Amino acid sequence: MKKVLKITAFIIIVLVIGILGYSYISFNSYAPADPEVQVDKNVQHYFHNSYVESRKAFLLEAKKIEAKFDSVQVFSRKVPSRIDTNLTIDFCYIPARKETDKLLIITSGTHGVEGYVGSAVQQMLMSEILTPEMVDNVGVLLVHSVNPYGFKYIRRVTENNVDFNRNCDTNKSLFSSKNEGYGKLIGMLNPTGKVNASSIKNKFFMLVAINQLLKKSMASLRQAVLQGQYKYKNGLYFGGFSFEPQLAILGNVFKTISADYTTVFNIDLHTGYGVRGVAHLFPNPIDDKKIKSGLETIFKGYEINWGDSDDFYIINGSFTDYIGKLLNDKTYFPMVLEYGTLNSQSTVGSIKSIHNMILENQGFHYGYKSSSDSIRVMQSFKEMYNPSSEKWRTKIMNDSKILFRKTLKNYADLKTN
Ligand SMILES: [Zn+2]
Repeated sequence: MKKVLKITAFIIIVLVIGILGYSYISFNSYAPADPEVQVDKNVQHYFHNSYVESRKAFLLEAKKIEAKFDSVQVFSRKVPSRIDTNLTIDFCYIPARKETDKLLIITSGTHGVEGYVGSAVQQMLMSEILTPEMVDNVGVLLVHSVNPYGFKYIRRVTENNVDFNRNCDTNKSLFSSKNEGYGKLIGMLNPTGKVNASSIKNKFFMLVAINQLLKKSMASLRQAVLQGQYKYKNGLYFGGFSFEPQLAILGNVFKTISADYTTVFNIDLHTGYGVRGVAHLFPNPIDDKKIKSGLETIFKGYEINWGDSDDFYIINGSFTDYIGKLLNDKTYFPMVLEYGTLNSQSTVGSIKSIHNMILENQGFHYGYKSSSDSIRVMQSFKEMYNPSSEKWRTKIMNDSKILFRKTLKNYADLKTN
């Protein structure tokens, strides 16, 4: 009997060590493979290393657009800040040439740091895709860097730690939204104290997360984390206690520019969600059948993630939905375009993604134990939203050229009555 117990104990110990070892290795060395493409050197120059350079490149392309199209308006709006007087949102508006029927608004940097890629895509569109014929009946408004603080200081959030994509609405009741699921995860999501990236807890973060998964399903966990919260101001996915200053600034511009149009379509550019190197169409759930079928026509041949799969979640205070609420006298098509980086549709990928966010947020608020912890965390964070891989950049640019050409044509041809 004793021998049986000893063998059982031995097997359990081996299993535990195996599981711990496996989770340690698979989590810490996790790096999804790059897409198999031939690197195109000609698209790399759209990607810049700072907000200032990205902005300069955007404005340079906007100047060229001004020379090529009629009545173009290029203008900037300052975003108030306590620490920086040079934070602007920049606009390039190309009016429709013949009929002011439809307006397309392409926005970048809603989640600050995601603006590096968004800006690159916008520059490419201005330089290579937009032609005067395309704007016969479609006006195009490019909005560069919706959250310039986050873009410049490599954060997802605004200066007030607010996730701008949880902060947008026409009604203040947004700030009394409750998220009870989030409160139960507070210890995991928002640890306090200096970041020690190689602490046991961080090395085995996958087990901490899997422990939560065993208590709940992935879907309910994702929903609790991602829908947004309006309670913990230093926490992840904080939607704010009030509207961020750029909301009114953007609202005014959208109202003015869209005045002559009957139909508005927004594509909000993001990175970080989904399969590495793949462009995902990922709107917040939409009930209106007419809008859904319009979007299906616009994105014909592409899969739209309508939210009927496992990784579905609803967010409060979404920026693209806000535009529709603001322009409620128009037909409005919202779309979020996500360029995948870390395979966040998989369990390991999504845990790695959230862990990167947790450490960056903790480091911002409480500091780092050492400079190597800071470098390591910031590097992973930046790579997650702005991959340095030339293959990744080639792939998303190649795909975007095709997608935007088709989309613009389909939108121009769309019957809206
Ligand atoms: Zn985003």
